[in-house]
Amino acid sequence: MDCPNGHRAEFVEYRSKRLVTALSPIQVERAYYYCAQCGQGVIPKDQELDIVDSSFSPGVRRMMGRLGAKEAFDEGRRDLEELAGVIVTTKAVERVSEAIGHDVEQSNKAERHAAFIGQLHSIESVATLYIAMDGTGVPVVPHETEGRQGKHEAGKAKTREAKLGCVFTQTTVDDQGRPLRDPDSTTYVGAIETAEQFGPRIYAEAVRRGLKRAKRVIVLGDGAPWIWNIVAEHFHGAIEIVDLYHARQHLAELGKIVYGPASSRAKDWSAGRSEQLDEGSLSVILKALKRLRPRDPAAQQAVHQTITYFQTNSERMRYDQFRRQSFFVGSGVMEAGCKTIVGQRLKQSGMRWTVRGANAIIALRCSEISGRWEEFWENRSVG
Ligand SMILES: [Zn+2]
Repeated sequence: MDCPNGHRAEFVEYRSKRLVTALSPIQVERAYYYCAQCGQGVIPKDQELDIVDSSFSPGVRRMMGRLGAKEAFDEGRRDLEELAGVIVTTKAVERVSEAIGHDVEQSNKAERHAAFIGQLHSIESVATLYIAMDGTGVPVVPHETEGRQGKHEAGKAKTREAKLGCVFTQTTVDDQGRPLRDPDSTTYVGAIETAEQFGPRIYAEAVRRGLKRAKRVIVLGDGAPWIWNIVAEHFHGAIEIVDLYHARQHLAELGKIVYGPASSRAKDWSAGRSEQLDEGSLSVILKALKRLRPRDPAAQQAVHQTITYFQTNSERMRYDQFRRQSFFVGSGVMEAGCKTIVGQRLKQSGMRWTVRGANAIIALRCSEISGRWEEFWENRSVG
């Protein structure tokens, strides 16, 4: 037979390997060929059966990946035994889940490439396409944060930021004119990576979901500059909206810093400003912020930062206009996504991840929650 490089590979012998399948462990006999030019063995049957370098059938691996994405690897091992009678080690669940996560990422990468050369097409014609982005911390093993500054002074970073993005669509409004998310229209992508790497990821997902045919594109985010840099690079012309609840939170926190955490004055002050925020009265808010003159230098600093935040983002906070046009002004769906995709699986007590391991699980969870798990396995069996 031919080796993968087109040389002639000679039959050597039949080799046997133990394969764990969903029904029982079995012995598989496979013909082993050897290519002298490559100095490598070839086992065509392993490729046919999708068991190259694996002692688990694709069916068992799929179960392992599904469970490993959902719960701690050891729980996955126990569920596999309890539900399917398949006995494997915890380490095997971890390794296989990671490997499938990497395969999912490989197909994401192929999609990204297709998106950038104009070969990723969407059949959907969308009224309004929303893109939301956010970051959330993932606890990592010490060597993943070496040389990185922690969020807190003097404290070393113990987490790395996973960047997550979601895309959803909106066609209609309810009887009060509030926007309605199209059912089952939300898909997610994410990874621990730089904004330069994440930009193409969220762009490709938006293209897949109909970016180029959308009548209107809206991006929701908090004030993080990396989000708006990505918008400038990949979503030129999109309507930019700062998540209303983040903006409110900035006001509430500042109120506490200036007037004291438990004071009713803090509450009144931030409630008043929040109302002005709803009305889109940014100039009034900025005036109110500039009137604050706390004595404490830390509080002065906080006032200054808040002024900068509202000045920088004022165009993204025209909530009165956005509401009149029935746009979503909150990215609650993104925050829920952060909790579901990262929080529930990667932030359980005692968990410490490598970036590689965390990214594999994030890829699996995004695939599953976006309804693409079946599609991944179908494409795999064709390939
Ligand atoms: Zn060869």
